[in-house]
Amino acid sequence: METPERRYQQVQAAVEAACNAAGRPRQAVTLVAVSKTRSATDIATLARLGQRDFGENYLQEALDKIHALPDQPLVWHFIGPIQSNKTRDIAAHFHWVHSVDRLKIARRLSEQRPPHLPPLNVCLQVNIDAETSKSGAAEADLPDLAHAVDALPGLQLRGLMAIPRADSSDNNRAAFQRLAMTLSSLRNTMPALDTLSMGMSNDFPEAIAAGATHIRVGTALFGPRDT
Ligand SMILES: *Cc1c(COP(=O)(O)O)cnc(C)c1O
Repeated sequence: METPERRYQQVQAAVEAACNAAGRPRQAVTLVAVSKTRSATDIATLARLGQRDFGENYLQEALDKIHALPDQPLVWHFIGPIQSNKTRDIAAHFHWVHSVDRLKIARRLSEQRPPHLPPLNVCLQVNIDAETSKSGAAEADLPDLAHAVDALPGLQLRGLMAIPRADSSDNNRAAFQRLAMTLSSLRNTMPALDTLSMGMSNDFPEAIAAGATHIRVGTALFGPRDT
């Protein structure tokens, strides 16, 4: 029987094995539990097992859960597409945003970040396989976008995020390596960048091998999503 405890232990063991294989310390990788479509109770169950970072894609659903779990020291990551009219609530309620892909959204998040909170941690989402259907900035636009976002006072630019095409593990491995190289070239002028958000349930070991610092794992932790 696949209990939440079993799944959590299996994912943690796989993360540790991937870190060992890559010669990286376990603390170099943050497991973000992607809790879209899951209940606040499911989140509380994982939190009791020691999970702290949770990722959400849909704002209203996320706000309901954030408000339902007020006493937990959880770290909330917004990882879904962002419409302009959602930036105020995202800026007020999240610690991280992984899916910033244009300057207009970054400016709004910066302006709307409440002044009593530290700058919002953001990653730029890169359309790593240049898919027309997918959000994310084009690789060619990244240097200018990164410098502009880095200058915004309400944000702390941390790094890059991508969702590869997911048609083959070879493609994903190559995409993860490209994202890592892109971050490393940005670090020539922005040495504080330290984050690579990449890898999901079916490919996080490859992502860790390529240098992921944040893996976003849903299905492997919570079981299949109802659609
Ligand atoms: C849903 C989602 C995930 C998690 O996917 P799984 O395959 O369930 O692990 C990760 N990142 C993003 C951006 C997602 O939307």
